[in-house]
Amino acid sequence: MNINFNKSSNGLIPAIIQDNQTKNVLMLGYMNQEALDKTLETKQVTFFSRSKNRMWTKGEESGNFLELISIKEDCDNDTLLIKVNPNGPTCHKGTDTCWAESNNQDFGFLLQLEETISERKQNADSENSYVASLFAKGINKIAQKVGEEAVEVIIEAKDNSDVLFLSESADLLFHYLILLQAKGFRLNDVVKTLKSRSK
Ligand code: AMP
Ligand code: ZN
Ligand code: ZN
Ligand code: ZN
Repeated sequence: MNINFNKSSNGLIPAIIQDNQTKNVLMLGYMNQEALDKTLETKQVTFFSRSKNRMWTKGEESGNFLELISIKEDCDNDTLLIKVNPNGPTCHKGTDTCWAESNNQDFGFLLQLEETISERKQNADSENSYVASLFAKGINKIAQKVGEEAVEVIIEAKDNSDVLFLSESADLLFHYLILLQAKGFRLNDVVKTLKSRSK
């Protein structure tokens, strides 16, 4: 990395902190060379705090550290994008982000689930893994499972148990994610298709 710290007279550059899983922007801080070095060395994000006028490891009091995943410089080397796994809420006011957003739209978890499914597909230990055993049975069997779960969703939609409806919906989505991968696709391919339809 060849970062240009000298665009502003104080030698500080902005660092955008992004949740590696949800992709939410969590906060913005400033770094000098020392803060960047310390962050790389300790794998916990450290800023130069303009208000404290000293090095500041986020989480030093609260314990809500930002575990470093990756650091990327922007097009002209004067801003950092830092991906992290946050240890608790990032904002000192208690919210997940400094813009008072919460991560309750947990779609990021679906990406994690897709990774797990992908691992099961690759190392097919079909004796110990249900997902691997489905892949071993092949596309027809997986597609049939999706059909069965869809029927169960229909049945529960007509009933009035929200718990059962949500449970069958989860089954359907889970098996659908498996079917997508059996066909060589991911959820994002479906999202792209949907996007291409909307004007
Ligand atoms: P922490 O680094 O989480 O232990 O918090 C220590 C102090 O840093 C807090 O009392 C706040 O003054 C400040 N602080 C913590 N998190 C943030 C944040 N996300 N944005 C701005 N200031 C913060
Ligand atoms: Zn720039
Ligand atoms: Zn904040
Ligand atoms: Zn079911």
